[in-house]
Amino acid sequence: MNRGDERNGAQLRELDRAHVWHPFTPHSAYADDDPLMVVAGEGHYLIDADGRRYLDGVSSLWCNLFGHRRPEIDQAIREQLDRIAHATFLGNATAPAVTLAKRLVDKAPAGLTRVFYSDNGSTAVEVALKMALQYWQQADGGAQKQRNAFLTFGNAYHGDTIGSVSLGGIDLFHERYRPLLFPTIQAPSPGVAGCAQALEALVSRLGHTLAAIVLEPGLQGAAGMVTQPAGFTRRVRELADRAGALLVLDEVAVGFGRSGQLFASNKEGVAPDLLCLAKGMTGGYLPMAATLTTERIFLAFLGHPSEGRTFFHGHTYTGNPLAAAAAHATLDIFEQTDLLAELPGKVARLATLLDALRVLPAVGDIRQYGLAAGIELMADRETGTSYPAVERRGMQVCGAARRRGVFLRPLGDVVVVMPPLTLTDEELAMLVRVVHESITEVCGAPVAVTA
Ligand code: PLP
Repeated sequence: MNRGDERNGAQLRELDRAHVWHPFTPHSAYADDDPLMVVAGEGHYLIDADGRRYLDGVSSLWCNLFGHRRPEIDQAIREQLDRIAHATFLGNATAPAVTLAKRLVDKAPAGLTRVFYSDNGSTAVEVALKMALQYWQQADGGAQKQRNAFLTFGNAYHGDTIGSVSLGGIDLFHERYRPLLFPTIQAPSPGVAGCAQALEALVSRLGHTLAAIVLEPGLQGAAGMVTQPAGFTRRVRELADRAGALLVLDEVAVGFGRSGQLFASNKEGVAPDLLCLAKGMTGGYLPMAATLTTERIFLAFLGHPSEGRTFFHGHTYTGNPLAAAAAHATLDIFEQTDLLAELPGKVARLATLLDALRVLPAVGDIRQYGLAAGIELMADRETGTSYPAVERRGMQVCGAARRRGVFLRPLGDVVVVMPPLTLTDEELAMLVRVVHESITEVCGAPVAVTA
């Protein structure tokens, strides 16, 4: 089959089944889940091989900020193609990645002056961990090199490389890699009552061993869309300072407008020592990530090359010019449109729309942060009883949404709503109406009250 035949849905599905191994996908159920075969996109819609259109309700996994085929980003990539697609960044530089670094540090929280590029959210976090560890080995002649532990929060998800997996709540998918993982100190999830006290106790006891505390500011996304009490990120910054440890904020999911501001760190009023960015950085077009850090950390890596203080990490496509061009166009859109000013209104509208779902008996909880929300399905919300995992209610609800023209992907029994930031009011209303109808179809309607 050549590229000219890529509109033949049946053939594509056959090839997919025969040759492809998908990420985070149980293949015994894959075909039955009727996967989308995307051949095109237009604005906020995905178009499949049979010509059907689906509202992209999860922004193509939380990264597509302004819809598909956004003219400004398409154009920026085309113009960059006329110059060069790729050249190495190892010991060299390319123009668009250099100018992008300047724009990023200008917009990021104060004090972050250096940009280290990589390719995805996992590597952005992996880089932050390696930098933090090496920083303590090299700073002040290694006076604090005992700082080699990382403190994270229950159920956190920071990616799939071994370093970033080690930070996570080690769950079903990652438990089997335990021999490869390094030990971390786990505070309870920020969504759990008593987290702040437990965190304080851990920091008091182990603070002197900590290289860094690692947190997703505002919202733990893949953990199940777990929101944090107001001021939590600031409190974590204070505790990191008290312990003398670094603070890593992972804005892979909440960065680039998702929080309602360009960066969640700014929204939470916190400047980290290391900031991890990815996903929306290129408007959802190309894989690119960045780990931003302070001059204090950067300086600890200087010295004659023979001293070996260099940060020995890099990828073939680090700083890729096409991706950098897409990231520039993404920042242009934030700067040149009213999107950021309009976001608070959209966030409030989403909250109002979601509120109407609370009448559904299966809706156990609704958690929203900025233009992102998780709707948790429960068999009995009074007792907090989950549905049996084997029923895959979350997947069923997303299947029902698909039949109604909306593409969603759940986290277990949490239905995730994470639309492009540019969704119109009508599309937002349609999205939540479809979620309402789909939960009703799969889990039942409210019991009618008779007079
Ligand atoms: N960190 C956070 C907070 C994430 O949500 C994710 C992905 O969902 C990652 C890291 C990993 O990013 P990637 O999938 O690009 O490796």
